[in-house]
Amino acid sequence: MIAPRDVPELDDATHMRGALGTVTHGGRIRNNPDGSGDYTGGVDLVVHADVQTIGGEQVAVPLDEDGLLLYTFYANLAAARTAVEAHGIDTTAIFPMAAAWNPAVSPLLEFAPADNAAYATGANVFMLLPDGDDRDVPVLANEGVIFHEFGHAILHLLMTHDPGAPPLVIDPAVESHYWQASLHEGFADTLATLLLDDPRFIDASLDLPLRHVDDDHAVVDDSMLPSTRMSTDLSQIADDPYPLGTVYASFAWDLREATDPDTALVIVLDAIARWAPQGASDMDGTVYLSCLLQAADDAGLGDAACASNEARFALLGVPCP
Ligand SMILES: [Zn+2]
Repeated sequence: MIAPRDVPELDDATHMRGALGTVTHGGRIRNNPDGSGDYTGGVDLVVHADVQTIGGEQVAVPLDEDGLLLYTFYANLAAARTAVEAHGIDTTAIFPMAAAWNPAVSPLLEFAPADNAAYATGANVFMLLPDGDDRDVPVLANEGVIFHEFGHAILHLLMTHDPGAPPLVIDPAVESHYWQASLHEGFADTLATLLLDDPRFIDASLDLPLRHVDDDHAVVDDSMLPSTRMSTDLSQIADDPYPLGTVYASFAWDLREATDPDTALVIVLDAIARWAPQGASDMDGTVYLSCLLQAADDAGLGDAACASNEARFALLGVPCP
């Protein structure tokens, strides 16, 4: 459904400038081997829009699909920031954030996911790609996708306190690199599903039941574990961090079903606060899981967390507190 939205953060709707940052066209996002990144060369955008009076309000109505996608992205990012701030996370350091409409990305294969929106960790920049397929909701306009991508920015902020810092582990030859990738996807989906209270936000855009967090996802065999993925996937490009990440997001959804979305997210954030000092040097999902179990137990949800641990993570062998 297309409907007017109030986006006070967007000061200049013609040039996509506002409190969240500026969206520019083209340019290049560079993802360097040392984990740093940058975005350069974007040029000013011009969104063609008609200003109409709807319900007594002045509304900018974009005249093409690109404009509609960009306005929707900005509104969804604003909503994600507001929802995260409501949980006591100070996102000041992230904004203003650059966003790149249809940029070049190098090295190209680093960024060849199916996604049409991505957050480049280390560069603190959003990459936005037009959607070539005919979907109910283009990926870029899917609220959950933007919340998910913002989740990468938030986890990086919580772990490093610096949005411009490189990822904590940049060496694909070590196991924690693969934990990092999965824990990031797990947290990004946790944030999106809990803040929107929607375990299947992806459905509006993609037929991807493997990403539903209210299903029976579990660590079923070694192939999902970083130790095995490291030895079988010689390049990080071939690695798939999502299956293991989805188990973590499903664990958080179990907590939501035992209580409510806000309480579940408070527990996850508490777990990250306990884990971050230990995880900063060596990402490890078993350490994080024990922090999650402890945080849930302290919040009075030990039984639900322990049942989820047994159903989903038995293979990791992390004991309940
Ligand atoms: Zn992601």
